[in-house]
Amino acid sequence: MSPIRVDYHIHTRFSVDSQSSPARCCLAARQAGVEEICFTDHLDVHPVDPGFGYFDPGGYSRAVTAVAGFPGVSVRLGLEVGFDRRSHADLLAYLEAHPLPLDFVLGSVHVVEDRLLDTFLLSAGNHEPAISAYLDEVEAAVRAAASHRLFDVLGHLDVFKRYLPGGHGRSRLARFQDRIDSILELAAAGGVGLEVNTSGLRNRLGETLPALEVVRRFRELGGEILTVGSDSHREGDVGAGIDAALDIARAAGFRAITVFRQRQPAWVDIV
Ligand SMILES: [Zn+2]
Ligand SMILES: [Zn+2]
Repeated sequence: MSPIRVDYHIHTRFSVDSQSSPARCCLAARQAGVEEICFTDHLDVHPVDPGFGYFDPGGYSRAVTAVAGFPGVSVRLGLEVGFDRRSHADLLAYLEAHPLPLDFVLGSVHVVEDRLLDTFLLSAGNHEPAISAYLDEVEAAVRAAASHRLFDVLGHLDVFKRYLPGGHGRSRLARFQDRIDSILELAAAGGVGLEVNTSGLRNRLGETLPALEVVRRFRELGGEILTVGSDSHREGDVGAGIDAALDIARAAGFRAITVFRQRQPAWVDIV
């Protein structure tokens, strides 16, 4: 049997930055040979985020349920929750007030010190303290996931690479190796997974978020939960780069990747 191909990071019109329709995403998945997809629309509760107040939990859940029987594609209901320490309590309150039958929750940091991450990084005179402040939020996010299951998998760990010009983010990664190691260690010990996000393969960055070295380190530090996702915001990107992400997973020492049902992990072989 050939390894299953899955995409666990897909946005639709229920995210402020996407127009995709769930049904057309399913069709695109089938055409791309992707057998299982998980929709992960944005839930961002910090007022500075453009998605603040946009999410419609009832409409989203109904729209995903409506495509649940799509022929040839298995469909999961997920969320990408935006974490930052200042809005953490609001996020918890929102999730409690709007319970959804979720299969999967991805946790990502999009806001640092009350500013959107790209603005925060680009306006910083010195990028290193800004990256460090971002990693502080990521570490707090992983602690929240490990202690009260706020989310299952950490999204695009080194996303600052996307925003810093001229490959600066990538070149700085090595200087933060100890910080990243301790985040990966916390995640592995707390049962929190790591995402291989392929969006960077579709732009000038030219590599996944994170790339092989970090994924390998996660494995070495005991990480067992690894998901792959395109972070597609348009139907044509559903499934994009998934084969490359699976190659990275194998090269990093993973023999299986993770899928979720009702927030419970399950592993599918990739070797
Ligand atoms: Zn994100
Ligand atoms: Zn996303």
